[in-house]
Amino acid sequence: MIPHTPVNGLYFVCGHQGDILRVLRDDINILPSLGKPVTFFELFDLHSRQKAQQFWDGLHQESAIFDWELNVGIKPLPQVYKFSGFITGGEILITASKQDEVLANMFDELMGMNNEQQNLLRHSEKTLSTLKKVRENKAVDILNEMTQLNNELVNTQRKLMKQNAEINRLNKQLQYINADLEQFTYVASHDLKEPLRMVTGFMELLKTKYGEQLDKKAHSYIDLALDGGNRMQKMIIDLLELSRTGRKNAVKELASLDEILNEVKENIFILIEETRAEIIVKTALPVVAVYRADFTRLLQNLLSNAIKFRKKDIQPVVLVDVKEKEDEWLFSVEDNGIGIGQDKFEKIFEIFARLHSKETYEGTGIGLAVCKKVVEHHGGKIWIESEEGKGSTFYFTIKK
Ligand code: ADP
Repeated sequence: MIPHTPVNGLYFVCGHQGDILRVLRDDINILPSLGKPVTFFELFDLHSRQKAQQFWDGLHQESAIFDWELNVGIKPLPQVYKFSGFITGGEILITASKQDEVLANMFDELMGMNNEQQNLLRHSEKTLSTLKKVRENKAVDILNEMTQLNNELVNTQRKLMKQNAEINRLNKQLQYINADLEQFTYVASHDLKEPLRMVTGFMELLKTKYGEQLDKKAHSYIDLALDGGNRMQKMIIDLLELSRTGRKNAVKELASLDEILNEVKENIFILIEETRAEIIVKTALPVVAVYRADFTRLLQNLLSNAIKFRKKDIQPVVLVDVKEKEDEWLFSVEDNGIGIGQDKFEKIFEIFARLHSKETYEGTGIGLAVCKKVVEHHGGKIWIESEEGKGSTFYFTIKK
């Protein structure tokens, strides 16, 4: 171990006889006389020389010795120094420092440490600030992104609010239009009945009163006019029915749907008889709160369609079924008729939508529009599953 080297103090090299070979650090207070050759022991006053000898011996025994307090006898006053020594192969290194110098050195060391620490600190501060910058930059990026997203969100929300307001406005408009339309349909169909009755009535009069005077062609014209008149009458009746369904002031009543079905069968008795149709109820129908007249019309339209759109030469069979769901009833009316292509599934529920000419299947194209209105008035949905040539199943739900 190298002895502590004082910053302010002595540092010198001795030979093995105690002769001072080199003074590495001078101290004007201590060694003004070092111009001439001196030995190590001449440094001390008489009191300390013995102790200095012990220091020297100890150093030779242990090769290194520290912090011996010795009195250096140099004018003006002898001063106490701390001596440390260290024997390297050929030379002896000895340092001497004053008490306060030791402190000063410690301070220096501490300062050195402090410098190191400061350097470290500076370094870490630098690293930290770089990190901070990186983070700040990232944070700024993220913040920018978030702000952008937020702006987009606000814009989308604004757009949605605008769209909602527009939808509400359109809904209100639609409600007015619907109400107007219902009113118009009712008034028009009601008021059209009268002139139509006149047209058909006078046509019939023409036929009975002047029939003999008219030729075959005139008769066929009258028949065509009457036929048109009758069809128009049916349309007016159906339109009236459509305008009457789902009325706001209608009241629901608990009704046995089995009973309603029997009523429907009676209403379409002739059609059932003529076609020898079989109507099978798979599950006993429940008692449900319905708008009775509307629900009767719904079943009647579906059953008569199921028989009307039958296949030639096949006995029409209609299966009626119901399933209880958690908050609704699911009904089905299945037939073995001509079926419908998938592309027409939506269209058939529109008013006046017909897939066939009046010559093949007569009708007005209003029946299913009525069904849809009735079902929706009951808080349900109606749809069809079918394949052309393989029969159809109409499903509808009624809210419990
Ligand atoms: P309409 O029966 O007076 O023609 P609807 O509104 O009741 O009018 O039916 C619309 C169209 O849907 C019908 O013209 C027919 O083409 C088709 N359709 C309805 N019910 C059935 C069914 N059970 N089988 C096959 N086609 C059907």
